[in-house]
Amino acid sequence: MATPSPTPSEHSEPPEVGIQGGGQELPICPLCKNREATGFSYCTFCCNACKMFFRRTLQKEIITQDRSLERFEKCIQAGMNYIPTENLLDVKNKKYLSAFITNLKYLEEHRQSQLRGCYYIGNPTVDEIAQLEGPIEFIKRPESFPMFLLDWVFITGMVSLNYLKQFTHAHLLNNSDRAHLLKHTFLDFSVFTDAMRVYQQKQDRTTVQPVLAGVPQEFLNGLRCRLAGRIEELKVTKEEFSLLTLVLFCNPALPNISDAGQVILNTYRQIYRHALFQHCLINYELDGPARLNDLLSIYHIIIQTRHDLLNLFTYKSDFFRAL
Ligand SMILES: [Zn+2]
Repeated sequence: MATPSPTPSEHSEPPEVGIQGGGQELPICPLCKNREATGFSYCTFCCNACKMFFRRTLQKEIITQDRSLERFEKCIQAGMNYIPTENLLDVKNKKYLSAFITNLKYLEEHRQSQLRGCYYIGNPTVDEIAQLEGPIEFIKRPESFPMFLLDWVFITGMVSLNYLKQFTHAHLLNNSDRAHLLKHTFLDFSVFTDAMRVYQQKQDRTTVQPVLAGVPQEFLNGLRCRLAGRIEELKVTKEEFSLLTLVLFCNPALPNISDAGQVILNTYRQIYRHALFQHCLINYELDGPARLNDLLSIYHIIIQTRHDLLNLFTYKSDFFRAL
């Protein structure tokens, strides 16, 4: 991959990295499998037609045709994502923000379906995952597949890593910075997603499935209740959750990140923060700034919850000990 600029382009697309020339034959696009891949667009190596299809679909927001949905899901599975870099402070221009939110909605659905129905054979380190070019390849989990406590902890961690590594800011980092970013965020992200799931299931009145089967439910609920309680109190929406995740976990202040890495993370955190702020202003008008602060305040509860959970699991999990 060529060294990309840490500053986002003036256009609303992430910067593209073309293939080196030299008369080499271009590889086939992994999405449609019938055209030549022309470059790196929306964080994925693909052909021009797939790139255009992804952009057009995001602008539509609702996908009505089955064939289009199937093709769009392939884009999502490949980790395609769009980050707007303009007009995020203009509340009258919602076009870019709404395409961004539509993209995040599908990425989140994909994350949840991986958690519900996938497994991974192997035990890679975070450094190895950080060096992977594309998404982690999961396998479908048969319904009868036995899942014990550590299996749930493991698959939750792997799915979180896969989610966090797909965004533009992670692609722009060098391998070492990307590994540090993932190591320092995937547990916090997992804790946040777990609490959000508990809150959403309560709202939907469905049965809460214990993700950490094998641990007394009362004990887990005690750990979760602070964070899930705050999420419930604020009635955090799915859109806010996805945008907030990007703000919180694109963190330039993490340890061991290089100067260049800090510039990238800082630049993208600003973009995500503007997007979340615009979303708050659109939905809360004058109370938008207060809403943004309330949402950002969730971070310290996530950290506290992760500390408590780590104290519980460190002594029995090789997964954590390996980090
Ligand atoms: Zn294609």
